[in-house]
Amino acid sequence: MYRTACPSCGGEVIFRSAASVMAVCEYCRSTLLRDADTVRDQGKMSAVLEDYSRIRIGTAGNWKGKAFSVVGRIQLRYDAGLWNEWYVLFDDNTAAWLADASGQYLMTTDLGPAADAPVFENLRPEQRYTHDGKSFAFSDVRTARCTGGEGELPFKVGEGWEAKVADARAGSSFLTLDYSDGPAHLYVGEAVTLEGLACQLLREPEQIAETAGRLPGRPNVLDCPSCGSPLTYAAGMATQLVCPACHAEVDCTGDKAEVLKKHTELSHVVTTLSPGDEAKIDGIKWSILGVMQCAERDDESSQWTEYLLYNTNRGFQWLVESSEGWERVMVLDDWPERFTAESATFKGKEFHNLYNYAAVVRYAAGAFNWRASVGDVTWIADYKGADGKLTKEATPNEIGWSRSMPVPAQQVGQWFGKKEKLPEAASQADEGSLLWPAVIAIIVMVLFNLPMLIKSDDSEGIWIVMFIAGGLLWWPASRKKKD
Ligand SMILES: [Zn+2]
Ligand SMILES: [Zn+2]
Repeated sequence: MYRTACPSCGGEVIFRSAASVMAVCEYCRSTLLRDADTVRDQGKMSAVLEDYSRIRIGTAGNWKGKAFSVVGRIQLRYDAGLWNEWYVLFDDNTAAWLADASGQYLMTTDLGPAADAPVFENLRPEQRYTHDGKSFAFSDVRTARCTGGEGELPFKVGEGWEAKVADARAGSSFLTLDYSDGPAHLYVGEAVTLEGLACQLLREPEQIAETAGRLPGRPNVLDCPSCGSPLTYAAGMATQLVCPACHAEVDCTGDKAEVLKKHTELSHVVTTLSPGDEAKIDGIKWSILGVMQCAERDDESSQWTEYLLYNTNRGFQWLVESSEGWERVMVLDDWPERFTAESATFKGKEFHNLYNYAAVVRYAAGAFNWRASVGDVTWIADYKGADGKLTKEATPNEIGWSRSMPVPAQQVGQWFGKKEKLPEAASQADEGSLLWPAVIAIIVMVLFNLPMLIKSDDSEGIWIVMFIAGGLLWWPASRKKKD
């Protein structure tokens, strides 16, 4: 351990790890570079964004039989969200990184330069990379920007520092190729949980609420910054909103909600279930945060609806409603051990490729844990097995796997406490179509009354009558169908 005084404010700065080259003064936020037994002030580091993480500097735990404590952190932002990389120091003075993204955790250790790594610019999701005799598939390739840091770190980072990383998976194993400093560095590890790490000195929800002003994960309401309608989201978890009233895309990862994009071209879509609906599944309360309507890009008539469900302790799951009925979908943390275009093996069971198609998001409303946007295209590959269905979803930057099981409509109805029977299979009709007849009726009415308006002395009275009649035509057509 090395202690020194901050050259800027005189506060005590501690380097716990001999490998740390940089520390951020906790009193004045100066970035201090360590050089032998002196420190140089490199200017101020931006404060980390209050992000609802349960981890903090000083959190202790145990991984693979070794005790650790968290000594530093960098916060990274990319176009679809924010995550933390916590620098972890073990009792034997080795170190690791604990990545923390919306309540999902990965522990990796630095294995040094990866001479056989592909060039970053040529990397694509699904490409293969062999490590330790295992074939890994890349899950995502991204460039992120450092937005803040604290504590001590093993390399120099600052404002504008860019992380170029590619993650790959094989079963439950995980690796990252990090190109931030030029030649690739290899980090290998696994998905972990805070319980599995026996973490202590975590931030309690009440403490997070004190600094963030909100309880992490609990449903919060804010006024849409575009139209003022109330929006519900899960603070720190599902922070990308699409306003159900005006369709604006709103980001609330930061302290204040920000409009990313407006969609004035969209009209309201009625779905069987809506954001805010609550369900009790196997005794646990879930609420619907977001709703998406998708269609096959090459067959617009084939439509389905996806509902994002959230529980504070369990995280996310999906319900899908299509012409084939209802399905419950879980995103997989552990990937298939092996997969090709024709088949996949998952936990020893065989699955065979059934359908391949491109899906387009046609409508979105509510809160999501990524930036859901109308027009987004995802390539879907469905694999069928004796034990349900596996699905691979791919975008240009990312792939993911999920597993789905059919659920009877009656069961879904029970979960949501619906008295009337839910549709067994979704109809393909567009329920927003009543608006057009109303618009045509109003135009016809105005045209019909035009000669009278021009001739009459009491044009004001006619205008008022027409206004009321127009409203009566418009109102039932524009109203959301309620149960
Ligand atoms: Zn200082
Ligand atoms: Zn709005």
